Parts: sequence; C-alpha cells; structure tokens
Amino acid sequence: VHTLRLILGDQLNAHHSWFRQQDDGVLYLIAELKQETGYVRHHIQKLCAFFAAMKGFADALEAAGHRVRHLTLDDSAQYEDLPALIRAQLQESGAQRFEYQRPDEYRLLAQLSDLDLPVAVRQVDSEHFLLPFDEIDAHFERGKAHRMEPFYRKMRVRFNLLMADGKPLGGQWNYDKENRHRLREVDWASVPEPLCFANSVDDILARLERHQVTSIGTLEGPLLWPVSRAQARELLGHFCRHCLVHFGRFQDALSNQAPHHWSLFHARLSFALNTKMLHPLEVMEAAIDAYQENDDVDLAQIEGFVRQILGWREYIRGIYWANMPGYEQHNHFDARRPLPPWFWSGETRMACLKDAIDQSLQYAYAHHIQRLMITGTFALLFGADPDEVDAWYLGIYIDAIEWVELPNTRGMSQYGDGGLLASKPYAASGNYINKMSDYCASCHYEVGEKVGERACPFNSLYWHFMERHREQLANNPRVGVVYRNWDNRGDEERDAVLERAQWCLDHAEKL
Ligand code: FAD
Ligand code: SF4
Repeated sequence: VHTLRLILGDQLNAHHSWFRQQDDGVLYLIAELKQETGYVRHHIQKLCAFFAAMKGFADALEAAGHRVRHLTLDDSAQYEDLPALIRAQLQESGAQRFEYQRPDEYRLLAQLSDLDLPVAVRQVDSEHFLLPFDEIDAHFERGKAHRMEPFYRKMRVRFNLLMADGKPLGGQWNYDKENRHRLREVDWASVPEPLCFANSVDDILARLERHQVTSIGTLEGPLLWPVSRAQARELLGHFCRHCLVHFGRFQDALSNQAPHHWSLFHARLSFALNTKMLHPLEVMEAAIDAYQENDDVDLAQIEGFVRQILGWREYIRGIYWANMPGYEQHNHFDARRPLPPWFWSGETRMACLKDAIDQSLQYAYAHHIQRLMITGTFALLFGADPDEVDAWYLGIYIDAIEWVELPNTRGMSQYGDGGLLASKPYAASGNYINKMSDYCASCHYEVGEKVGERACPFNSLYWHFMERHREQLANNPRVGVVYRNWDNRGDEERDAVLERAQWCLDHAEKL
C-alpha cells in the first residue's frame, strides 16, 4: 500500500474521480467512529442510516475492485479520535501518502488540517457541490448580508437550468406566489404514499448498544431511509413520478389530518444528497426530465424544486463557509432560555408542535415548513438559546450535518446572525399556522384568542417577542409596520397580551 485514502460518512460519492482507476496500492478507509456518534445526541435512525450507508458503500467499492478497510465501532474503539485512527492505519498499512476529501464541516476540516503526519498529505475536492469551493469567496463575504434570490439567478444562468435563450423559462424567475397553497380535504387523495425501504440494521443497533451510544427518537422495525445509491435512485424516481406534480403548490402546506401528512409531496432526498449518494445535478436533471415528459407537471412545480437545490442548498453552504468559524456563536437577540422539555417527548397540547415533534422523533424527519414555522418560530418567539436549538436540530434530523443545519437554524429560523442570511425573522402568530394547516381545528388552544388560558401561545408570544426586540426590529422595513398596529391598541389590551405571554414563558413545560 502506498496511499491511504479516507472516506468520511458523508462522502459516499461513487462518481468521485478517485474511483475511476483501480490501484492495489491504494487503501480506502471507512470507519465508524465514537467521536462522530457523540458530538451531539443523534436520532437513532440517523446513526443507523449513516453506518448502514457507509457499510454499503464500502461493499460496493470492494465489489468494483478497490481495496477497502471498513472499520466498525468494535474495530475503532481503541482509537481516541480520527487523528489517532489515521496515524495507526498509516503505520499498519505502511502507506507513504495520506489523502482525504475536504470535509464539509468546519469541525472535521480543522481536525484534518491540524494533522501533523510523517507522510505526504493531499486534500482533494469532494466533487459534489455545484459552486466550486474556491469560488465561495467571490460570492459570499464574511459578516456581510446576502440574499438567496440574486445568487440563485446567477446559478440558473451558469448551469443553464430552466433557461431559454438566456432568459428564465416562462419569463419569470420565481413562482412562489403560485406555490403557497393550503392542503384541503379535496387534495388528500393526491398525497402519494411515501416510498419507504426496509433495511435491516439489527447489527448496527447491537453495536451502538455495546458502545453505549446514547440517542434520541425511535426506530420501530426496519430503517426506511435509503442507504445505497440504488435505493437513493429509486427514491428520486418515486419523487419524479408521484410528488413533483404538486411539489411547489403544497411545499408550505401543513397537516395532521391528511394521509401521509409527515411527508406530503416532499422528496425526502436530503439524506441521499447530503451523504453524496446522489449528486445535486443528477437530482435536478431527473426532475427536469420528468417535467418535460409529463404534461401534468407545470413550470411552477419544477422551478420550486430547482430553487431548493440550486438556490437554497448552495446558498446555505456559501453562507456557512464564508462565516466559519464564528457563525456558531452569533446570538443576535441574546436568547438564553432552555428549550421546553417536550421538544424531546412531543408532550405538549399545542397540536402544531406536537405533530412536528412527534414525527421528528418517529421518522427523524420533518419537512421544511415544520422546521421553520412550527418548531423554529416557537423557539424564536420563546427566546430559546440558539446553542440549544442548534443541538436539537443537529441531532434529530436524518439530514443534519453542520454545514446545512447551522445556517438554516441559527440564521434562517432564529435570525441569530442578525440578517446575514435572511432579511427578516420568521416570527408569526397562530394566524399564519392556521392559514397554512389544519392543525388548529384539533388543538386544545384557540387560535383566535390572545389572552386567557386557552389562548394560542403563539399569539401572545409573538407580541412579547416584538416588544422585547423593538429596538432591533422597528427599523426593519419588512417588520416595522406591524408596530403601528400594536401601538394603536389600548394599554390594557397590550398589558393583558404581554401578561399571557409571560405566563407561557414561565410555564413552558405546561404548554
Ligand atoms: P424537499 O422539501 O423535498 O426539498 C428538496 C431538496 O431541496 C432537499 O432535499 C434539500 O436538499 C434542498 N433544500 C430545500 N430547502 C433547503 C434549505 N433551506 N437548505 C438546504 N437545502 C434545502 N436541510 C438539511 O439538509 N439538513 C439540515 O440539517 C437542515 N436543517 C434545517 C433546519 C431548519 C431550522 C430549517 C428551517 C431547515 C433545515 N433544512 C435542513 C432545510 C430543509 O428543511 C431540508 O433540506 C428538507 O426539509 C429536507 O427534506 P426533503 O428532502 O423532503 O426536502
Ligand atoms: Fe398551534 Fe396555536 Fe393552532 Fe394550537 S391553535 S395548533 S398552538 S397555532
């Protein structure tokens, strides 16, 4: 062996140029590591999905003629951390070169960059993202506010996706206005049954137990997430056939009544993408092909989907790298409260939060608008410490890796970065949730009330938040206007609302 090449758990890219040639002198190392199971408390399905996908990738590489060393937790327990493992493997194999793909997380990049090894070291690109790493600085400046839309338009032109003669297909860049529908009962029949796999992970579960890895959430029966490229491709095909047709239309819809309401028309491809089993271009191209072949899929649906991957996903990564390290410390509103305990149990009488948290515990998944406007907005209004909020999101979701979790959580949902990523905080009262969901009809609380024991907590917390942060928000042109409405109410009414909010803040565990 002359070269040892490291493959991290989110680098399962079968099309990486590394694998174009077989070379018996190259040893690929894929290892389950205790340090990766413990930097945050992960969902049990997330632990199993990563380990199963890593094992599958190791087997596939071996079958393709490469030399692979796959280490389980049992094999790697003797090494304190990743650097210790690498040193030992270099020694054991006799390799004179060490190569790795640049990690997408700052934490791992720092660990690998700091390695002081007695052999030649080479870092290569992970060949996954569309915007080359070296170009991030040209688009994103540290500490400066950016907006997604101009970035997205540049990417559309650059990659020539949904373009015609240099102009956006259909003449518009954005179809968001047509895409904000509530899901009504008449639409229920069109909600597709989600494609769930049945991967056996008993051996992984036994290992996690043996090594006393603590986790959150549940796993009943086999693992439903895709853990191989073949399964990931199958899920992509399922999305193109059954979900794309209404993807944009219902992407902001929320329900606890509709069939399959935990997944609706969402792709659930984030795990396959973030582990790099799928390439973003391949995903978008498959969806665009489906749009072209199927008259039922209109432009607003495919544009909405391309926007998420070509726009948001790449934009989020740009914000992350332009601002790391340091982004993880922003706390614009100086929020310090611990999250209420029901974030880990779902035991709350608020129907919206119960639904979002229950399904997160059950599936390690919630769709975007649940993450943003239910758990996220609650944490924002409540004044939850962004460190806690980050740890919760980073642990619970199947797709949570810091480069994508942190800007979405601390930036987009908590406005902790003071507007580097988004133009305003996603603060909203129960009215928004009621407009987009069927939650409120089955809730213990009254969405139309602001005061009293049964008043929807979002309503009073919203005004408490706005009052608390008047100084930071009143000058924001997208937010300031709401103060006029609030200030026009009598003192008595305002005091009663703030009093109800204070009760909610002081008794959050009872909500
Ligand atoms: P769909 O709704 O079907 O969208 C398709 C794809 O678009 C997704 O698979 C994803 O790759 C991409 N996408 C859409 N929105 C975003 C976004 N805002 N940022 C990045 N990619 C996006 N996404 C993660 O991958 N990991 C996270 O840890 C994560 N944490 C989040 C935390 C908060 C508070 C919020 C508001 C959003 C977070 N997101 C995260 C973004 C988004 O919610 C998920 O990507 C999406 O819900 C994944 O489900 P899906 O594959 O069904 O997505
Ligand atoms: Fe959520 Fe309020 Fe509606 Fe209940 S009434 S579901 S707490 S928004």
